[in-house]
Parts: sequence; C-alpha cells; structure tokens
Amino acid sequence: MKISEHVYNMHIDDGHIAHPGGSNNFFVGDPDKEMILIDTGDYEKEWINQILDYYDHLGKPKLKAILITHGHYDHIGGLDRIYEATKAPVMAHPLLADKLSKIIGNRESIISLQDEELISVSGIDLKALFTPGHKEDHICYYLESDLVMFTGDSVLGSSSTSVKNLSEYMKSLDYVLKFKHDIVCPAHGPVAMPPKGSDLINSQKMHRIKRETQILDSLEKGLTEINDIVNDIYPRHLTEGLKPIASHNVRTHLIKLLDDGVIQMKDEIFNLIR
Ligand SMILES: [Zn+2]
Repeated sequence: MKISEHVYNMHIDDGHIAHPGGSNNFFVGDPDKEMILIDTGDYEKEWINQILDYYDHLGKPKLKAILITHGHYDHIGGLDRIYEATKAPVMAHPLLADKLSKIIGNRESIISLQDEELISVSGIDLKALFTPGHKEDHICYYLESDLVMFTGDSVLGSSSTSVKNLSEYMKSLDYVLKFKHDIVCPAHGPVAMPPKGSDLINSQKMHRIKRETQILDSLEKGLTEINDIVNDIYPRHLTEGLKPIASHNVRTHLIKLLDDGVIQMKDEIFNLIR
C-alpha cells in the first residue's frame, strides 16, 4: 500500500500477541529506479514470502540497501533469505555488525551507520537517528522529503512499546521530535497519517510522563514495593496475564527515578529522597 510519494508499506497481520494491529515492512524510493527496504520480518516463512512478493509487485526495483531498525528477531529474522534474494548491502547500528555478518555469512555486505548519517535512494535521503531505549542498537529513520518518521519499535501504532532503558528512551523521543514529520511509520500497528501522525510520538512521551507522576504519587503516599505501586496505579481488575508486564513497566520507571537521583532503593524497597 502506498503511504506517501516515496513510501510503500507491506502490512502483515502476523498474529503475535505483542503486535496489536499487525506488522509493517517499508519500501522507500522510486519503484521505477531504486528502493530501500526497512527491516526483514520474522523467520516464519509466510512473513518473508510476503515481503518478497511485495517486492515483485513493486516491479523488483534495484534494492539499494536493507536498513535494520534493531536486532530483535522479528526485524532481522528474514535477513538471510532476503539478502539471498536481493544481495543488497545491509545497514545497521555498529553494535549489530557481528550478529548480522553471521546471519548473511558475508562481512563485506554489512555497513555500520553513524548517527545522522544520510542514506540516499532515488534522489531522496533517509537520515539515521540513533534512538536507544527499546534496545541499545535501535535506529529510527527520517525521510524529510515526505515528512515521514520510521520509528521501528520505539513508537508503535496502537500500543506502548517495551522499554529496556527508560532514561535513554525519553531522550530518544525528544531527539526524534526535533524532526518535523506528518506521518509515523511504526514497525507494528497502524501507520499514523495526518493529523494523528504529527502527535503520536509526543502522546507516547506524555503517557510515560503521566505514569512517572503516578508512581511518584504512590511513593509520596508511602508505598514502597513494586506490587503495591502496581495495585495503586493500574486498574483493579487488571488481567492476570498483564500483571508481569505492569510490574516490569513500574520497575523500568523506578530504575529511571534511581538514575535521576529522585529515589533510593534497598532490598527492593523504594523510597523518595527527601
Ligand atoms: Zn518488533
């Protein structure tokens, strides 16, 4: 499906519980000249076949590069087969160079990107934006010509993403927000078109800030343990299956507050520093 002048989306309902709204792989450029592919899907056969079928549908343009947003399996799982079919160089974060070399069995075809590096295709440029947080090797890609931000797993279309390092994640959101965009193309969930597109990243940022305020309120009330804080801020009838996710989320926030020097922790007991 065509998203903007130079962006085409291969959408798949992969049925993964952590991917509400399905998943996306984007082709960027001009199908009559050359294009770039962003991410290579899961190792499951059907997903990769759909990417390759869509590439056929676009007329098999020269593939200038395969860009990787980060090293989770649902983004690099199909790399061996897609590299085999296209022989396009693979561009990614330097931390992924070894892992990707092993997957394709060819070191020469792996290109390590730098922050703010431009990758040109069909007369337009994608800019690599290093955005650690969801994972330390995460890169968002910005297409200024179409005002499109490819957010990988940093910002999803219809759910909040899992975060490994929240301090870095919040800085990364501020970083991408500096680049004016009307459309957000996430790796999972629906593409956010105007007018929603220009607000999606900021609304995710606000969601995290609100959560942090709630946790500070809980600590202010004298709650000191993760379980008690979860019970305080999440709906009372939170589905059992979601409890571990909520606990993990609260812990991620508490670690950020520790980093910020706002709270202290001893034996899993958290307290505000007054
Ligand atoms: Zn993912």
